[in-house]
Amino acid sequence: MSFFDGIPVAPPIEVFHKNKLYLDEQAPVKVNLTIGAYRTNDGKPWVLPVVHDAEVQLANDATLNHEYLPVLGHEGFRAAATALVLGENSPAISEGRAFGVQCLSGTGALRAGAEFLHHVLGLSVVYVSKPTWGNHKLVFTRGGFTSVRDYTFWDAENRCVAIEKLIADLEEAPEKAVIILHGCAHNPTGMDPTKEQWKKIAEVVKRKNLFTFFDIAYQGFASGDPDADAWAVRYFVEQGLEMVVSQSFAKNFGLYNERVGNLTVVVNDKSVIAGFQSQMSLVIRANWSNPPAHGARVVHLVLSDPKRRNEWMESIKAMSDRIKTMRAALREKLEALGTPGSWNHITQQIGMFSFTGLNEDQVNHLISKHKVFLLSDGRINICGLNTNNIEYVAQAIDETVRA
Ligand code: PMP
Repeated sequence: MSFFDGIPVAPPIEVFHKNKLYLDEQAPVKVNLTIGAYRTNDGKPWVLPVVHDAEVQLANDATLNHEYLPVLGHEGFRAAATALVLGENSPAISEGRAFGVQCLSGTGALRAGAEFLHHVLGLSVVYVSKPTWGNHKLVFTRGGFTSVRDYTFWDAENRCVAIEKLIADLEEAPEKAVIILHGCAHNPTGMDPTKEQWKKIAEVVKRKNLFTFFDIAYQGFASGDPDADAWAVRYFVEQGLEMVVSQSFAKNFGLYNERVGNLTVVVNDKSVIAGFQSQMSLVIRANWSNPPAHGARVVHLVLSDPKRRNEWMESIKAMSDRIKTMRAALREKLEALGTPGSWNHITQQIGMFSFTGLNEDQVNHLISKHKVFLLSDGRINICGLNTNNIEYVAQAIDETVRA
């Protein structure tokens, strides 16, 4: 008899499972379009040159040590991260109505935000987009939310945002429901609301007294311009909406395993910030107590130095340009092959992912016959494509769609 007897085996986490299947695959030709990480045209991970440069400086800095950071994190990093998302000239910052808390990447920021909203503000209902990133529901459930619901996001037939249904679902949400909104580069669809659509969403969120939770995991990485990618967040702030915003520096700095994230709160009355800080300190204390320093120091060094910041901007532009080139190439090749169906959505979508529209049978066929690995909902990571494999992938999709 063991305390651990009869533990049910949970299903594998699809994205890591598929990635492993790819790594274990022995076929000479195989393609990995699963995990959301940037790859160079040679199919390799990329350490941004400016990140490397900052790391060298840190390694040589004899004044640094491994003492604990404050519970709420590295102050310079938090201020830089908050300014990155809200804008350098944000009135919310200058008026003392915004405050950042360092967290363990985007996931940690979501989890700390969920626990704060549940345990401190007493909120229990959350809405996530349908479809959404595979981890949202789990994070909010484990964070204490007892009702995790969907709002319609995707119009599968027309491959666009189902704005009317989305608004109708928000109209039905109870007051004080938390609404998770992907700040840019919606995962998995790659399709963001237009500015006009964002305005409609903000209007209903405000009128129905819903709570805004932005998740922005791809700022700068999506369009190459961090300000453009933060438009929706800043618009909601301008409309006077209070919110929390989770930020990840995994993709836009290539710091995936360093777990660099920030949770920014924006409030209307700065007198509540002291309560927020003290309660958030307890949330963090009960989770990881103090955050790791290395990645936060790197991001701070880069964002606070104009020369390095420019180099970073060049790198995010290079990453997003390569993605755009691959999107255009895939669409062009499928159209040239006359692959049944329309493929214009591939270039309309932005960010790392494309929601191809391939169904589960087609996905399984692509994996078993062609060794092209992707998620069962048809999501592909465009970064897995390069000039060496794009022809192969297009041919494989063509054969699959016709099969
Ligand atoms: N939110 C979304 C929508 C994401 O796609 C991701 C990354 N896959 C995250 C949050 C957080 O990732 P991380 O914890 O690695 O920063």
